[in-house]
Amino acid sequence: MADTHLKISRELADKIREHGAETYPHECCGALLGKGNDPREILGLFPLVNRRDDSPRNRFSVTSQDVLDAEKAARQQGLDVVGWYHSHPDHPARPSQYDRDHAWPWYSYIIVSVAEAKPQDMTSWRLNDDREAFSPEAIDVQQGAAV
Ligand SMILES: [Zn+2]
Repeated sequence: MADTHLKISRELADKIREHGAETYPHECCGALLGKGNDPREILGLFPLVNRRDDSPRNRFSVTSQDVLDAEKAARQQGLDVVGWYHSHPDHPARPSQYDRDHAWPWYSYIIVSVAEAKPQDMTSWRLNDDREAFSPEAIDVQQGAAV
C-alpha cells in the first residue's frame, strides 16, 4: 500500500505542536479539518479537551459529542473532518496499541511527540482497511499562511 500524502501549512503544524506543549505532561487532542483523500489538505484545526480523567498522560479519547462538534465546525468552514491529532508526552510519535484499537480507517492521525514540554517529531498515520496496522502518511509542510 503506497503512502498517502497530507498537506498542511507551517502555521497549522506549529499550532498542533504548541497545543502539545501547552497540555504537557498530558496529551492534547483535536480534529483535523480539511478536504480530499490523497493528497489530503488540512485547512483548519478544532482543538478538543481531553476528557480522560483516569489516564490523561497516555490516553486520549474522542467522544461522539466531540465528533458532532468537530463536524459542525468543519461544515461552517466548508470543510470535512479528515482526521485527528494528539500528542505523545515523553513517547515517540508512533501509534500505540490503544491508538489502533480506537482508530477508524480513512481518517488521518497526526501524532506529535513532546519531550519535557518541547514538541519533537510530528508524524501522520492511516489505519489500514483491515484495521490490523497503521500505514505511515507523508506530511508535506507548506510554507506561507494558512488559507
Ligand atoms: Zn497515541
